Amino acid sequence: MFIETRGNDGKKSQKVPFSYAILNPSASFGGLYVPENLPNIDTDFLEKASKKSYKEITLDILRLFNIDIEEEVMQKAVALYDAFDDATEPTPLVQIEDDLFVNELYHGPTRAFKDMALQPFGYILSHLAQKLGEQYLILAATSGDTGPATLDTFANKPNIKVVCLYPDGGTSDVQRLQMTTQKSPNLKIIGIHGNFDDAQNALKNLLASPSFKEALSAKDIKLSAANSVNFGRIIFQIIYHIYAYVALLKQGKVALGKPFYTIIPSGNFGNALGAYYAKKMGLPIQKILIASNINNILTDLISTGVYDLRSRTLLQTTSPAMDILISSNVERVLFDKFGAERTKELMEALKEDKLYTLTQKELACIQDDFEAVYCDDTFGKEQIKHYANKGYIMDPHTATCLKAYKELKIKPLPCVLCSTAEWTKFAPTMLNAIKEDSVTYSDKEALEGISNALHVKIPECIRALFNEAIIHDSVVKKEKIEAEIFDFLNKVKP
Ligand SMILES: *Cc1c(COP(=O)(O)O)cnc(C)c1O
Repeated sequence: MFIETRGNDGKKSQKVPFSYAILNPSASFGGLYVPENLPNIDTDFLEKASKKSYKEITLDILRLFNIDIEEEVMQKAVALYDAFDDATEPTPLVQIEDDLFVNELYHGPTRAFKDMALQPFGYILSHLAQKLGEQYLILAATSGDTGPATLDTFANKPNIKVVCLYPDGGTSDVQRLQMTTQKSPNLKIIGIHGNFDDAQNALKNLLASPSFKEALSAKDIKLSAANSVNFGRIIFQIIYHIYAYVALLKQGKVALGKPFYTIIPSGNFGNALGAYYAKKMGLPIQKILIASNINNILTDLISTGVYDLRSRTLLQTTSPAMDILISSNVERVLFDKFGAERTKELMEALKEDKLYTLTQKELACIQDDFEAVYCDDTFGKEQIKHYANKGYIMDPHTATCLKAYKELKIKPLPCVLCSTAEWTKFAPTMLNAIKEDSVTYSDKEALEGISNALHVKIPECIRALFNEAIIHDSVVKKEKIEAEIFDFLNKVKP
């Protein structure tokens, strides 16, 4: 069963099953749903897992969670990993130093790690909606990777419609094309004038608007969400951390039960939360090392216990998926450690005062599991070039992790770095790093530039984007979004 991070307001059920929590992800007082209990994995589980495939381990863990989803549905959801580059190894673990391994999480259809969770999640959500005979609308705002992965998983899925807002000019060409060339009739993509914050705020305003909700319910459409506030995504993000350890075991790089470090390039903290739950379940993680860019609010929280939004403005970096100041999933860690009452207090302080401060004792408790550091774009580009020269290509988000590897990995233990995107999604930055220039390249030029310089192939799914027809060409002002959405809902078949 699932419970609420800010306690219960007396209007909702105290405990809900998984299916309810993922169809209706917002809990009382603006909180989130979390599992009441986590299953345990011991060395016996890990030993057995070292003889199993990614899919088998995923199903084992889902069964341990004992969620209210039929076995057959889980199997079909997990079978979506078969469409990744290597069906037997959806998340290859690649060694790049004696003690450093890259967990490549981006081998799915949209070339970012969001696919790891969104692919099976989308299947399950659509299945539940069909079973209930209900229609759901998913509203998403994206800075680049969530949009394509959300659209891909729900394309042509029954009982689900998706409207995705992106900042016009705020994404890479590849990311924009991954969205605007979507052919499926249940998807609508709208560019807006403004930046990602504007897109996100426009969406928040809509979700809070009574007239918008009324108009939807008049059409018998319910709202759900597919961002990482939805536990249906988090559950799949626990598994690849466990599998990374299994892969170390399979490769003979760690002795059963001995600890390892993991490094996570963090934004909304979903990936890191998955690692935290895996650690709590018994995975021997020495420490979860959190990497940030210069939007380093998580570094401050984890090193000083202070979450202070007051003097901050969002800065643009070459790792845009980590350009976040309000990191939603931190709340789930706060709840797990300090309970609902304290979580509600902290989250309300953040809303009202734009600030909260943990006690020394609470901070120590966070530091039992996490350490954090940040890096700037210059450092990131140096790392991209350094490893490219050695024959390994990593994207700008992944590169932020090298700072944590150098500064925070104190003990001589193996270290797993989570790689969250393929280089092809951020080709202009990659080419700037390799050539040590600051030329403004188009994605197309840069993809070819990197491909020639480093002798790598551009995957067909990326290359083909540039020849596909643009289906969604509307770019509107904020005030026009609601009208655009209803225009779409009026035309689309139920
Ligand atoms: C979403 C994303 C992140 C941040 O992940 P969180 O789970 O939100 O912390 C990092 N890198 C890339 C490439 C992403 O798409």
